[in-house]
Amino acid sequence: MEGKKEEKKPKNRVKMREQDPLTRARNFNEVPYGYTPFDAVEEASRCLSCKRPTCREGCPVEVDIPGFISLIKERKFLEACYKVKGKNALPAVCGRVCPQEIQCESLCILGKKGEPVAIGNLERFVADYEAEKGEIKVPEKPKPTGRKVVIIGSGPGGLTCAADLAKSGHQVTLFEALQKPGGVLIYGIPEFRLPKVIVEREVEYIKKLGVELILDAVIGKLYTVDELLNDKGYDACFIATGAGLPIFMGILGENLNGIYSANEFLTRANLMKAYLFPEYDTPIKRGKKVAVFGGGNVAMDSARVALRLGAERVYLIYRRSEAEMPARKAEVHHAYEEGIEFLLLTNPTRFIDDGKGNVCGVECIKMELGEPDESGRRRPVPIKGSEFQIEIDIAIPALGTRANPLLTKTMPDLKLNKRGYIVAEEETGMTSKLGVFAGGDIVTGAATVILAMGAGKKAARAINEYLKWKYWDFKS
Ligand code: FAD
Ligand code: SF4
Repeated sequence: MEGKKEEKKPKNRVKMREQDPLTRARNFNEVPYGYTPFDAVEEASRCLSCKRPTCREGCPVEVDIPGFISLIKERKFLEACYKVKGKNALPAVCGRVCPQEIQCESLCILGKKGEPVAIGNLERFVADYEAEKGEIKVPEKPKPTGRKVVIIGSGPGGLTCAADLAKSGHQVTLFEALQKPGGVLIYGIPEFRLPKVIVEREVEYIKKLGVELILDAVIGKLYTVDELLNDKGYDACFIATGAGLPIFMGILGENLNGIYSANEFLTRANLMKAYLFPEYDTPIKRGKKVAVFGGGNVAMDSARVALRLGAERVYLIYRRSEAEMPARKAEVHHAYEEGIEFLLLTNPTRFIDDGKGNVCGVECIKMELGEPDESGRRRPVPIKGSEFQIEIDIAIPALGTRANPLLTKTMPDLKLNKRGYIVAEEETGMTSKLGVFAGGDIVTGAATVILAMGAGKKAARAINEYLKWKYWDFKS
């Protein structure tokens, strides 16, 4: 029509190819294949290189998002990767598991009219491209400052803080309780979502920055924090021990055989490679009918691992509706596609014994949504008389985790909140104890990889300032 401009329709985002659902439901290979260079340039070309890039505000580790995307447009893939790594030492991890849909991508201007730029997919692409080309560039080591910092816990929070402090020239030692570094990235998130070679590759990069890693070292048992600060000569400490203690449901029969906490189930499968039996001799019960309880990422991962271990039916039992599920949308979608059976608005009331101490069923009750609770979500209320039973041989409660008191109970002068998490300043990670900083899940409770990384970055900055103050060194 004359005078009326035709509105330009935004291009759709480039989809990532992935394994077919029926095939992948029986293997542990990664689900999406990643972008090709052609896909990456195509997707990057959707970015408007905004003058005021709102996406950046949604990145807790401050990646220059339009900057690295522009380099992809110019096919400068390695340069794009180095730009990301200037701020984020774990790009291949973040590109795979960050909830971008509620972080950077939720603030991308294109999301107002259509689909936001696939920032996470592009981040994954450049990190994988760098690894494939074998051109992992390590920044030049700065002049050593002579200051020593100790970090406890090698999850994303500890690794990020370690990388940033090493880049500032400090001597950094990272203690990890388990036999492998990476925290939840290595023991929790399954191989088909985050291949372990990728975590190992990014940890290797952090070691190359000069970080010393000491494994199988439980702080609180091997040394106390006071011993590290007073006897071992460390100037400051960052605690990033996560929130790895499982929460149980407290219902009848929960101690029957065949009931695993999600943490134990996933640790056996991932860290201890039970899925590669007999090559690895870690035992794990492979159920035919499995029930997983919960609606978060941990529940989705447990259900999908159980399926891949050979279960015929896997039920995901959640007391609210799908809209309230805290899991990433992409993971819920993948779980549906693979055949996980969702029993929503359903709550377990007791487990049933087969007479030999094994679980053989679960009794559940139907729920309906009532008024919102303190979390703002509508409270599920049981519907009287709606009980029913399901036959199962494995049950996996995945209802969340809490802080492990092993370390904090050796620190009477460290302020904790009433749930046992460390009280730390949001912008600095500073705790009630001089020279001790904390961040990640041990401060916030179970959260996300990128929030733990953001906390590690802020703490590294604050530790730098603290060390200047401690030594009256304001020149650098
Ligand atoms: P962690 O990753 O928990 O690492 C803490 C480390 O400290 C561990 O290695 C532990 O062994 C070590 N440690 C503990 N105590 C001591 C001690 N006394 N001495 C020495 N070392 C110690 N988030 C997402 O963003 N996306 C996802 O898709 C996602 N999926 C998840 C799936 C599962 C199964 C789980 C469990 C969590 C998932 N999360 C996800 C959440 C995310 O992984 C965590 O929020 C994040 O790992 C927290 O990082 P952190 O550094 O605080 O601690
Ligand atoms: Fe590109 Fe979206 Fe960021 Fe704008 S807001 S620079 S379009 S990614």
